[in-house]
Amino acid sequence: MSLIDELTKKLEAKQDRLIEVRRYLHAHPELSFQEEQTAAYLKDFYKNVPVDSIETDFGGNRGVVVNIKGGKPGPRLALRADFDALPIQEETNLPFASQNKGVMHACGHDGHTAYMLILAETLAEMKDQLNGSVRIIHQPAEEMPPGGAKSMVEAGVLNDVDAVLGIHVMSAMETGKVYYRSGQTQTGRAKFSLKIQGKGGHGAMPHTANDAIVAASAFVMNVQTIVSRRIDPFDSAVVTIGSFDGKGQFNIIKDAVELEGDVRTLSSESRTQVEEEVRKITKGIEAMYGVEAQLDYVNDYPVLVNDEDVTLKVKEAIEQANIPEINAVLETGPIAPSEDFAYYLQEKPGTFIYVGAKPEGKEGFPHHHPKFEIDERSLLISAKAMAAAVASYLG
Ligand SMILES: [Zn+2]
Ligand SMILES: [Zn+2]
Repeated sequence: MSLIDELTKKLEAKQDRLIEVRRYLHAHPELSFQEEQTAAYLKDFYKNVPVDSIETDFGGNRGVVVNIKGGKPGPRLALRADFDALPIQEETNLPFASQNKGVMHACGHDGHTAYMLILAETLAEMKDQLNGSVRIIHQPAEEMPPGGAKSMVEAGVLNDVDAVLGIHVMSAMETGKVYYRSGQTQTGRAKFSLKIQGKGGHGAMPHTANDAIVAASAFVMNVQTIVSRRIDPFDSAVVTIGSFDGKGQFNIIKDAVELEGDVRTLSSESRTQVEEEVRKITKGIEAMYGVEAQLDYVNDYPVLVNDEDVTLKVKEAIEQANIPEINAVLETGPIAPSEDFAYYLQEKPGTFIYVGAKPEGKEGFPHHHPKFEIDERSLLISAKAMAAAVASYLG
């Protein structure tokens, strides 16, 4: 029997346990950078699994890294699954809904962790048949900048690794379909805050003041032209002002206003360009309105760029594995949210693929929604798809 056939057969036999693990994790979610119990659960899971080494608190956070050495030398693959949850009160009414008030696995990271545990266990059991090695990266804190990935990469989690692979389950994509994309795939993100300090005064005598509300409003309107007038129409970017704190009273000229903005870009060029433009507009507002503007602009997750060769290899491996639960492997367009898997891809070639997880016969709620759900069939599909990728490298 070929490696992939044996792997998928073994995974199939573990489907009930896979779902059980996912439900346990779902009921016990923890916020980014606070995943103490989850990290302990992971460590405990591997107690009786024949892995070669396990490192905890990797990268100074709660990362758990597991090494599985194959019987013969060969490529060294890293597989990553994130395990943090979000500050959301769950409203799904599922029997295994969150037991932690105000915290919910509303992005599917419980599913990522569950399939990865079962896959890692299976690979460890069959390690004599692997030509090469697998490093399992259980990563905390994907949801909150600076993210868990960055410090793990800095601590050398990808040293001696040839390629890195990851999966995200997607509630908007039909269960049974797997999506891939090479090149620029998920946006890079920046956020900024701007404090505009003007000069307060009497509402009836604006000429004696420098109105911070008018200056801030001009800033808001001007940043709208970055995307429409400055970004190449074949590139794409988003600039959103999500907060404008200008509360005051009708007859008082506001002396200071604070703004917060969110920036998404799909190329490193537009990432740099948007920042430059925001800085330019800030200076312009100061000159025009006689205010002081203090800009704090922070780039966090980079643009996620999938390697072309790895993506093609993984796509073909999944197609050729003839996995009955997968009815199509399709190319996706770019995906708007940012993802800290991008840090791994800055370091090593790899690919991040998407597994359809839309619940059957139900309204699919978006990720980060209190009613977010995944179709649990996506867990076995994820495990099998990743197994196919592993087998194509280490078979
Ligand atoms: Zn998320
Ligand atoms: Zn996520």
